[in-house]
Amino acid sequence: MKLNGTSSSTPSNGQTFTGIHKNGNYNDELVDELGDDHGTTSIDTPMREDAFDLDDDLKVDLIEEHFREIMNILGLDLTDDSLKGSPRRVAKMYVKEIFSGLNPDNKPASTLFDNKFQYNEMLVEKDITVQTYCEHHFVPIIGKAHVAYISSGKVIGLSKLNRIVDYFCKRPQVQERLTIQIANELKRVLETEDVAVIIDAKHLCVSTRGVRDLNSTTITSSYSGKFEQESTRQELLRYVAQPSVGL
Ligand SMILES: [Zn+2]
Repeated sequence: MKLNGTSSSTPSNGQTFTGIHKNGNYNDELVDELGDDHGTTSIDTPMREDAFDLDDDLKVDLIEEHFREIMNILGLDLTDDSLKGSPRRVAKMYVKEIFSGLNPDNKPASTLFDNKFQYNEMLVEKDITVQTYCEHHFVPIIGKAHVAYISSGKVIGLSKLNRIVDYFCKRPQVQERLTIQIANELKRVLETEDVAVIIDAKHLCVSTRGVRDLNSTTITSSYSGKFEQESTRQELLRYVAQPSVGL
């Protein structure tokens, strides 16, 4: 990890703790840099052990209270008709909509079917909508996912592929982790390693703040099993590159 803040210490143990505040907190400079680098720490979403000790309704009440405080600190007049409902709206949106995929109870159940047609070629579902939120800035990441698998004898309903993508999108995310979490779930559900996931997405934290680049997108991919073979991967990439069928 690159740490090039101005307050670099010269540690004797070879490690660099540049930019860490004396009291153990990160300073602003390091926080900005870690966020803009969009690094991630683990494949699993970092969760506390007591994550679900509070029920959803209590979480909504508590977030409402805290979000009201954020708005107050910003100096907004919470008695204004347009603003007074915002803390509760935001709290409900966090818990019940955009971050509902933190709760494993909301994971879509996936029914497997026998591959009666003996269709043994790859199945590709492309242009699946991706709407998730950058865990460093809590603003949207919007794009599309292409997923593919080769049946090991079982198949899954097509809409389940969308639902699996959407479930992992409904968390604060980094794109790399999102890609791997979707791939791992597909491998688990479909009982095969022959899975590929490609995500192409625009990060609003890059386009609307920071470097404010409106045009760049980020592409991540995960290829495993037969998709590690060049010819299989090229076949998938050809399908993905084809123009979509218009309706
Ligand atoms: Zn971000």
